[in-house]
Amino acid sequence: MSTSLKSFNPQSATPGSPVPEQSGLVDGFNRRIDYLRVSITDRCDLRCQYCMPEDFKGFEEPANWLSHAEMTRLISLFVGFGVKKIRLTGGEPLTRRGVSELASNVAALPGVTDLAMSTNGTRLARHAAELRAAGVRRLNVSLDTLDHATFKEITRRDRLQDVLDGLDAANSVGFDSIKINCVVHSETNEEDIARLLDYTMANGFILRLIETMPMGASGRQYKYVNLNEVGGRLAERYGLVATVEHRGPGPARYWATADGIPSLGLITPMSQHFCASCNRVRLSVDGTLYLCLGQENQVPLGTALRDGASDDEPRELILGGIAAKPERHEFSTAPERIIRVMAKTGG
Ligand code: SAM
Repeated sequence: MSTSLKSFNPQSATPGSPVPEQSGLVDGFNRRIDYLRVSITDRCDLRCQYCMPEDFKGFEEPANWLSHAEMTRLISLFVGFGVKKIRLTGGEPLTRRGVSELASNVAALPGVTDLAMSTNGTRLARHAAELRAAGVRRLNVSLDTLDHATFKEITRRDRLQDVLDGLDAANSVGFDSIKINCVVHSETNEEDIARLLDYTMANGFILRLIETMPMGASGRQYKYVNLNEVGGRLAERYGLVATVEHRGPGPARYWATADGIPSLGLITPMSQHFCASCNRVRLSVDGTLYLCLGQENQVPLGTALRDGASDDEPRELILGGIAAKPERHEFSTAPERIIRVMAKTGG
């Protein structure tokens, strides 16, 4: 049994007793969990330097992957507990066959108010319209530079044009929002970020800068830079003003143009962590529930689902996991702790 069940809260759910439905998931630090990120595959067609080694071998065996039906069933249990927001991520979610059908099934679950996807955009040109039709409302697309050579260096693949074509396609089918996620570290060129901001503002996208986290050996090879300084410089240069109006459900802080168009966001897990307001947990492709991006606490839900059990057992496991959600990540104090790559947990 998972270590996280050591702090299973018997008052929330005693094994064998009826599990309360629609009661909401509240952890031991009084945080309401209403957001689930699901890594629908740990495979990716890029090998970003800070994310995954070129010769990465730690992929999950396909035999352990949840099927689409199992994934939808598991997600529906979270939704039954009041989770409203779902993000499909990975790995690269668009490498998984049938992703739009999965998205459509998840979007149709009563109680889901927001379905989003994180993608690297390489296959977006093919999938954008069907994803939108399936009910995906918001997209986060990873893009660190507009320079072809730098893109190839960072991702170890020459795919920038595919990403830009994907973004054009996505922009034409009317997602509620498209955010561009750019990972920044000490070797990032600030002029590259400025070029990205020109591009995102011209296209109506929101650029979000993310501090590199020490996840896996790849994540640890870069030093993070404090984005408050970078963000402040860019905001001044582009005449942007800090805004609270356009805060999304996530942890970013935003700047907007003078006429109120949100344009730049900062995600600062290292310099200014936002764990006190954490509202999310993550599910990996084999059905492991991860309670924190920066801790190893986990609950294996896949097996409970597969053994032909009723929904009661996975529900009890979910409640036990939420009760044991750690207070905060320890990226700064124990950076060696997280050995899994981001693609496994689902970024
Ligand atoms: N393939 C999808 C994508 O590119 O958005 C989803 C998975 S990817 C792991 C999710 C996000 O995690 C991406 O924006 C990626 O840049 C970010 N990421 C990966 N490793 C990271 C690290 N060490 N620190 C911060 N962000 C990281």
